[in-house]
Amino acid sequence: MNQLELLWKLQIHEQRLSSIMENLDELEKGIMVDNLNLRIKRLERDIIKKKNSLKKNDERIRENNLKLKQFDYQLKEVEKSLYSGTITDLKQLDYMDKESKSLRKEINEMELEILSLMEEIEDLKELINEVECEHIKLKKDFEVFRVKQKTKKEELKKEVNSEIEIISEIKSKLEKSALEKYNIAKKNKGYAVAEVLDDECSGCHMIISTSLINKVKKEQEIFQCENCGRILYYKNCICNKE
Ligand SMILES: [Zn+2]
Repeated sequence: MNQLELLWKLQIHEQRLSSIMENLDELEKGIMVDNLNLRIKRLERDIIKKKNSLKKNDERIRENNLKLKQFDYQLKEVEKSLYSGTITDLKQLDYMDKESKSLRKEINEMELEILSLMEEIEDLKELINEVECEHIKLKKDFEVFRVKQKTKKEELKKEVNSEIEIISEIKSKLEKSALEKYNIAKKNKGYAVAEVLDDECSGCHMIISTSLINKVKKEQEIFQCENCGRILYYKNCICNKE
């Protein structure tokens, strides 16, 4: 394998290594794990909140039922006196009649409120059930995910080691001057080897003269783009050599 081919391969493996390292880094940071954990915690808070509302509604129903009993008792007392015939004073009768009507109204309102509270309780129970199911499912998913993450991390670490080995093997075959040119261009431009595509340097899109392209095709020497300094590489000329 000539020097240019080796440089091209070096670049491919260095880029592969850096992309694997990025993935590994993301896994190490545990961003996905944190996100899942956050969602689980949020659901747990939601469940507590809904259960508290449920408790409050239960208490209000109990209170309202007590009030309702009192109103019922008062109403009975008022109506007993009203229809007993013992009260003859018209003003008093009128007052009691009004009192009985207002008690009936209050009883009616209280009953309606109890009904609506009961409906709310049913809805809340349903919601709590849904959230609890989601919580259980998410916790299960989380466990599966953690195991997968661990396996994935191990795989990536293996890939990193293998890429490091390949890179060091390629470097051992490279001449010092070629590696130096590669390192300088990489430091300046992010990546060192640019393919010649449609008579252009694919790194900076500068047109390459035909005579230079012909020299590059021969692969005898390392030629650099006059504009960006990247090492020029003509892929088609070696595709059958591998
Ligand atoms: Zn260029």
